[in-house]
Amino acid sequence: MPSVSSSAVRPGATRSLWLDRSHSRSYPTLAEDLETEVAVVGAGITGLITALLLQRGGRDVVVVDQNRVGSGVTGHTTAKLSSLHQLTYAALADRFGAQAGVTYAAANEAGIAHIAAIADELGIACDLRRRSNFTYAASAEDLPKIEREVTAAHAAGLSASFAAELPSLPYPVLGAVEVAGQAEFHPVKFLDGVAAALVDAGARVERLDLRDEVTGLGNRRALHEDLRRVLERRGGSPGDLAVAILDLDGFERERPALGDEQGDEVLRAVADCLRASMRAEDAAYRIGEEEFAVVLKGERAWGGFRFAQRLRRRLDTHADRLPSATLGVAEPSGLEGGDTVIRHAALALHEASRAGREVLIYSEALEPTARESHRDLERRHLKTLTTALARACDAKDSYTRSHCETVAETCALIATELGLDDERTAKLRLADLLHDIGKIGIADAVLQKPSRLTDAEFEVMKTHARLGHSIVGGAELGEVADWILHHHERLDGAGYPEGLSGAEVPLESRVILVADAFEAMTSDRPYRRGRSEGEAFVELERHAGTQFDVSCVDALRRAVGGRRRTALRLATG
Ligand SMILES: Cc1cc2nc3c(=O)[nH]c(=O)nc-3n(C[C@H](O)[C@H](O)[C@H](O)COP(=O)(O)OP(=O)(O)OC[C@H]3O[C@@H](n4cnc5c(N)ncnc54)[C@H](O)[C@@H]3O)c2cc1C
Repeated sequence: MPSVSSSAVRPGATRSLWLDRSHSRSYPTLAEDLETEVAVVGAGITGLITALLLQRGGRDVVVVDQNRVGSGVTGHTTAKLSSLHQLTYAALADRFGAQAGVTYAAANEAGIAHIAAIADELGIACDLRRRSNFTYAASAEDLPKIEREVTAAHAAGLSASFAAELPSLPYPVLGAVEVAGQAEFHPVKFLDGVAAALVDAGARVERLDLRDEVTGLGNRRALHEDLRRVLERRGGSPGDLAVAILDLDGFERERPALGDEQGDEVLRAVADCLRASMRAEDAAYRIGEEEFAVVLKGERAWGGFRFAQRLRRRLDTHADRLPSATLGVAEPSGLEGGDTVIRHAALALHEASRAGREVLIYSEALEPTARESHRDLERRHLKTLTTALARACDAKDSYTRSHCETVAETCALIATELGLDDERTAKLRLADLLHDIGKIGIADAVLQKPSRLTDAEFEVMKTHARLGHSIVGGAELGEVADWILHHHERLDGAGYPEGLSGAEVPLESRVILVADAFEAMTSDRPYRRGRSEGEAFVELERHAGTQFDVSCVDALRRAVGGRRRTALRLATG
């Protein structure tokens, strides 16, 4: 333990032994205080089993290790769970009497049974198997010692016998004490399983070398290890995990002027914003100088958008001293490893920074090709121009900052779920980005009116669909212009501007309508808070078949992820 004078520790008082600067080199400093009833030092078999027993006894427990689970001696044992360690029982009987051997054997047997029961109860696949254990005699003079040990171990209550027939070993063996009913296991698998069960039940297992010292968040190594563990446990089912990587805009440039102390203050404040923007099940990491990552559990990539919005709101409240952030988001689509998901999110981040976007979701189209073809280059220019126009449109409508971009990403997710090919999805993205471009021609008094529009004002507002069609049509994007023209048509024919119905409404316009409505419902406005995703889905489903296309709503549901909505559906019958 660190050197803390006994008078300084009052029974029941909460204090941090690490932050008291013990000056002991063997106790790495925690980045922040941890409040707990019991702190267990060391995530070996002793520490983790102690923590498990304490937790089962109702205690709030934190296990702190200077390294990772399984890096201590336990991770390097010969993996035997045995009551027989060398020649023990004869010596015990000689020195302390027969009862000492009985007590020792009973304690060891109880230990083996306890480990086996824990592995069984927690379902830990640690290759535990029952087998005999042997202590060998390698020379003729050892043989009598072995025979005495058999007698003493048997007297102590173990199922011990003399074994003359032995498997071939790389050294000469003349006989052995065999104790039946012992066990062996994979120690690191076992420790990992216990640690995971502790965490699942609410305890914390903290690795000191996995912390970023400045912010107290996990570091890059922690991100890789946590992702590996989470991905292994989820076994390749898509839809329950998203990774966001974010970069602080311009911080690298400004940091030298800020100096170390102030620069670290900014990073700590950003980390606080991340923590405040996350849900309890998410985890944040600092993985580079100004680069952070967030693992969003139970979310699809679209959840990264929600997270980005929450984070932006937090950072905006300290806009005088904190930079804004750019995000790239990815989700595992199959059995790919954590490194690949991180690479995908980083690629999306790179593209978002390049295109001046706030947040972007990874898609295969972002993969760099060896050489960009002329057509690709044209496409890129078109995309950049389109993004700029969309931003102009968002800037005009101050209530819907980054609305067009969010709708575009939502549309891309729906398109992927619907199985639209890359070419069509790329075109749809353009249409989504520009779907409200016609609002540029709507008077501010109408566009920015905080209260309900009059009928006459609504008629003015409706003209944005035709206006958008002529702006985009003028840029020789005929099909895209048509999708924009019809993005307020309804399946039942009650939409505008042409009152098309059913299959007359282009599929792409139906996709935009759903994405547009979902984004509008779930985002905050100055005069109201956004609805939850669950509430928005209830609303979309209520109007599916009349206003919205059922297949588009279903696709969005799959894209956003199913868990929470399943719960909501149960709750709402
Ligand atoms: C080669 C070998 C083979 C063995 N084979 C067997 C066998 O087959 N069967 C058997 O029953 N026993 C075996 N043993 C003995 C057994 O491994 C140990 O008794 C047991 O693993 C000890 O567990 P532990 O949790 O106390 O220690 P460890 O597993 O070493 O755990 C201690 C933990 O504390 C952490 N720590 C240390 N200092 C600090 C600090 N200052 N701050 C934070 N964290 C800290 C370490 O990182 C480590 O994770 C063997 C031992 C050895 C060396």
